[in-house]
Amino acid sequence: MTVRADVAELLAAGYGDRTIARRLGVTAISVTTARTELGLPKARGGNKPSASVEDLFWRRARPVDGGHYEWTGGRSSKGTPQVQWGGRVRETHTAYRVAYRIRHGVDPVSYCFPSCGFPRCVAPEHIADSGAARRPAHHDGGRGRTSDSRRDEIVKLLREGRSNKDIARTLHVDPKRVGRIRAEVGQAAFIAVRPAGTSLEEKWAQAVRPTMGGHVRWAGHVRGTTPNLVHGQRNHSGRAVGFAIAHGRQPVGRVLPGCGTAWCVAGEHATDGPMRRADALYTELFGRAA
Ligand SMILES: [Zn+2]
Ligand SMILES: [Zn+2]
Repeated sequence: MTVRADVAELLAAGYGDRTIARRLGVTAISVTTARTELGLPKARGGNKPSASVEDLFWRRARPVDGGHYEWTGGRSSKGTPQVQWGGRVRETHTAYRVAYRIRHGVDPVSYCFPSCGFPRCVAPEHIADSGAARRPAHHDGGRGRTSDSRRDEIVKLLREGRSNKDIARTLHVDPKRVGRIRAEVGQAAFIAVRPAGTSLEEKWAQAVRPTMGGHVRWAGHVRGTTPNLVHGQRNHSGRAVGFAIAHGRQPVGRVLPGCGTAWCVAGEHATDGPMRRADALYTELFGRAA
């Protein structure tokens, strides 16, 4: 199986499997599989202390449709999403400020707010700085924002479904940076669409459309209600083929979207019988908060 670049990056950064799964909209078991694949040590089960306030943020932020993130953590009396961070002396940060720092790498000038219209959204990409918003458009801020230059252009090309390398070449930026931004905005990993493909994998790639949040839509033929591919004069379930591509083995039993998005056929989100049983066992052993 091929490990997704964004998964590999967060594993290397030391995040736990469940945190990575939540942040990228993939199943925890697929992250664990990727960890094994990369020969990285096992994440400790159970509750472990967050390595940083950003780590804690990702444990509390849950991706929802439309690229927005819901806050599952604490709130102020006014309902503002908050993170408590620190050892003995805990500091309270608004989740908006943490989200802003994740995206921009610098502290906001003034107070932060979600600019997308989704109530209390904490998606780093959707958080605006009221101070920065008031600046004239040509003003560069003089606060090291140049390190964030071209980000909007990168995001725009990501949305068009371009690959990291292609974007890096077009905009003369580091492909690794494009990969990081892809992970931050929760964009699906690039799926190459080759013309006139004849292998089952190529047919699958042509029949799917990546969407926000890493979910993948089926745009190919449907047999009854099942995504279907005809290959070698046989019918193949689109879900099973996606699963096999992502996991490097054939699924056992029914293949279902583990992400909870009924129409999603993303191989990385797909689960089969043994995986669902393993996930259920994991939850039983370590609890939902792990
Ligand atoms: Zn939003
Ligand atoms: Zn999905």
